[in-house]
Amino acid sequence: MSAPVLYIVIPCYNEQAVLPITAPLFLGKLRQLSDQGKIAETSRILFVNDGSRDNTWQIIRDLAAQDGHFLGIAQSRNRGHQNAVLAGLMEAKDRCDITISIDCDGQDDINAMDAMVDEYLTGSEVVYGVRDNRDSDSFFKRTTAQGFYKFLSAMGAEVVYNHADYRLISARVLRELANFREVNLFLRGLVPLVGFKSSSVYYTRSERLAGESHYPLGKMLALAINGITSLSVKPLRFITGLGIAVALLSFLGVLWAVVTALCGHAVAGWASTTSIVCFISGVQLISLGILGEYVGKIYLEVKQRPRYIISERTWEDR
Ligand code: UDP
Ligand code: MG
Repeated sequence: MSAPVLYIVIPCYNEQAVLPITAPLFLGKLRQLSDQGKIAETSRILFVNDGSRDNTWQIIRDLAAQDGHFLGIAQSRNRGHQNAVLAGLMEAKDRCDITISIDCDGQDDINAMDAMVDEYLTGSEVVYGVRDNRDSDSFFKRTTAQGFYKFLSAMGAEVVYNHADYRLISARVLRELANFREVNLFLRGLVPLVGFKSSSVYYTRSERLAGESHYPLGKMLALAINGITSLSVKPLRFITGLGIAVALLSFLGVLWAVVTALCGHAVAGWASTTSIVCFISGVQLISLGILGEYVGKIYLEVKQRPRYIISERTWEDR
């Protein structure tokens, strides 16, 4: 078997500060792997510009002009990390044998790629990069991220613990992934659903080499909600259960009210009535909200809008 063609897919959003530092590191890694004969000479680094407002796209074009190993595509606007990764993977899938997706900020250890490729060469079609600790994160990021995984699994969305979007996927798996047409993308949950033989590689995640994180708490919550609602209907079951529990309680309340009335103490009761009304309406509003979340997702899915739109490619530069 000849060495596989590897495409390293790298989403970039407003990364002008870090790209000039990490791009040579990625290139060094690619060269080293191909010098060792693990990957083919024709392997490439594919940047996906996710509608950056700074100089990122210009930097990518310059890189592509300087060295043929660099390629770039640009999304027509900012669509978010998941869509950017998908755009890159879909662009790469017909040109290569394997892809590795990785963030462009240098947080994920590129040296784990050796082990990933080895795992592929010994039969795995998907290799998850799993971080072995979170020492480099702030206390806040660490606890919220851990909460994120716990909450996801409690809600029935199965993901690989402490695995983000650093992973090797073979072109074969990508062709199957292309048939998952959902607009609400949560790749971490989708890739395990595609199946095929998988394994994990452990690495230590460090701090961003430069620039700032684009995943503040709000976006992380949005990702969590998207992850849950696109992978599981457990929250809907949960509110059904809650409804049954509240209905039973109300039944007891009715009994209590009837008995009190029969005994002739029916004057008082403002506090209990108010509490019950407040409680039930709270439960109903939360339930409606959860239902609404799914209805909203259905709304977005039925429209079948494209998940990404590529507006430029460096190899089509004029
Ligand atoms: N990213 C993107 N589109 C976005 C936000 C982020 O393509 O709308 C990219 C970003 O350039 C980086 C990766 O996604 O390569 C992860 O983002 P970041 O490092 O900010 O997240 P964190 O590592 O802090 O969770
Ligand atoms: Mg990062």
